[in-house]
Amino acid sequence: MGNPKAFMEINRQEAGYRPIQDRIQDFSEVEQTLNTRERKLQASRCMDCGVPFCHWACPLGNKAPEWNDALFKGDWELAYRLLTSTNPFPEFTGRICPALCEKACVLNLFNHEPTTNRENEAAISETAFREGFVQACTNIKRNGKKVAVVGAGPAGLAAANDLNLLGYQVTVFEKNEAAGGLLRYGIPNFKLNKAVIDRRIRLLEEEGIEFKYGQEIVFDAHCSLYKDYDAVVVSTGTPTARDLKAPGRELKGVYFALELLAQQNRVLAGSEFSKDERITAKGKDVLVIGGGDTGSDCIGTAHRQGCKSVTQIEIMPKPVEGSVDPQNPWPGYPRTLKTTSSHEEGCTRRWNINTIEFLGKDGKLTGVKVQEIDWKPNPEGGRPIMVEKGKPEIIKAELCLLAMGFLKPGHPEYPKNVFVCGDSANGASLVVRAMASGKQIAAKVNDYLGKKA
Ligand SMILES: Cc1cc2nc3c(=O)[nH]c(=O)nc-3n(C[C@H](O)[C@H](O)[C@H](O)COP(=O)(O)OP(=O)(O)OC[C@H]3O[C@@H](n4cnc5c(N)ncnc54)[C@H](O)[C@@H]3O)c2cc1C
Ligand code: SF4
Repeated sequence: MGNPKAFMEINRQEAGYRPIQDRIQDFSEVEQTLNTRERKLQASRCMDCGVPFCHWACPLGNKAPEWNDALFKGDWELAYRLLTSTNPFPEFTGRICPALCEKACVLNLFNHEPTTNRENEAAISETAFREGFVQACTNIKRNGKKVAVVGAGPAGLAAANDLNLLGYQVTVFEKNEAAGGLLRYGIPNFKLNKAVIDRRIRLLEEEGIEFKYGQEIVFDAHCSLYKDYDAVVVSTGTPTARDLKAPGRELKGVYFALELLAQQNRVLAGSEFSKDERITAKGKDVLVIGGGDTGSDCIGTAHRQGCKSVTQIEIMPKPVEGSVDPQNPWPGYPRTLKTTSSHEEGCTRRWNINTIEFLGKDGKLTGVKVQEIDWKPNPEGGRPIMVEKGKPEIIKAELCLLAMGFLKPGHPEYPKNVFVCGDSANGASLVVRAMASGKQIAAKVNDYLGKKA
């Protein structure tokens, strides 16, 4: 900690987003960067707490006090080494992590101006790549054992990375045409430029990991991976989105959020779709059902596609505003109202709204019948009871996107050498949790194969 009083003298400064009118014209990343002087000043605010709650809150156990200090002193290489001692891909989390560490930062408790750990992380990562501190490790001693990783999302990549560095020959099987999982085919480019994923995959390949694309593995009794590999890691995510089985669901114009988001990311990567296949918000009133992050990504995408308007509805009540809620105290993650860069771009947001029916003409969506509701405490305990309020109304929409989460997958009874991690094991969550889970499973595989030898 270079300046013990910095947290009192320097305010939190976020780099902020590009101006709205500029950023909605393209799919480039919305977030800007601070200059080096300002970035170091931000790093200096870290108090090097005796009990660093940032470290406690991060699923990867980040060492924010240590790398913030190195950053403040201008030792970017040391900062990168400290950062990657716990986080294999800080260039991903530096861009899209909701930063559990910042919510738990002692400065968040004290004056609601936590350290800017996530942005600091992104700055350290990009400097490390630019300055050549990130080099492929090509002298790994092989131990003669083979591991298959199924699914190339953040969980699978983190597991593959650790196992490869431990000396296993790792092959990653991925059903898509490229690696990244939801980093590539869920999260929009305006949050995460896909060149960032490509850069990391090239490094992993140089380090000896083999990627096989277009391989959808079926985990049944005939699955040859169980015998062909010493261990198998299953990191297949949560492929099934929650559906809304209201009348009219079959109308053209009603899609799962990921149908839009994945297709848009593929279009940006050069794929072509016929006019009939193409999902676009251009010139349309758009309704997003689901008030979470996936819904927010649909809003930003709809703006960039040239929609007429966007409305986002959520069946649950509006979360509290601000960050002090006695039911949800620091250092836990605050369940408060979140306004993203996509919301700032323009959106009507409504809560306590139930969807009744999709309405259409000639097979195409024209609107959605909804109704305001309320939640009453359940006298028997458990989930509150939904009660109707007011009259049904119609929200005009030619495109409706269902962003209501994902179902936790079931798994067959696997042989002993199969290990499940990431969202596939825990249900839909966050990139940082998927990566942490991938690392934990790599340690378990190593333990299992070590004992077997
Ligand atoms: C739209 C959207 C936005 C999000 N935004 C954020 C965000 O900003 N920040 C954040 O932290 N989290 C975000 N998340 C959540 C985050 O993306 C996930 O928690 C994370 O990607 C889970 O990682 P995973 O590796 O477990 O699974 P996934 O990323 O889902 O990867 C699973 C991989 O397995 C492959 N696969 C599946 N079945 C098979 C099979 N049978 N054979 C071969 N391959 C298979 C899939 O093709 C995929 O590549 C978002 C999620 C969505 C949907
Ligand atoms: S809790 Fe905040 S101030 Fe304290 S060590 Fe962590 S990042 Fe620094």
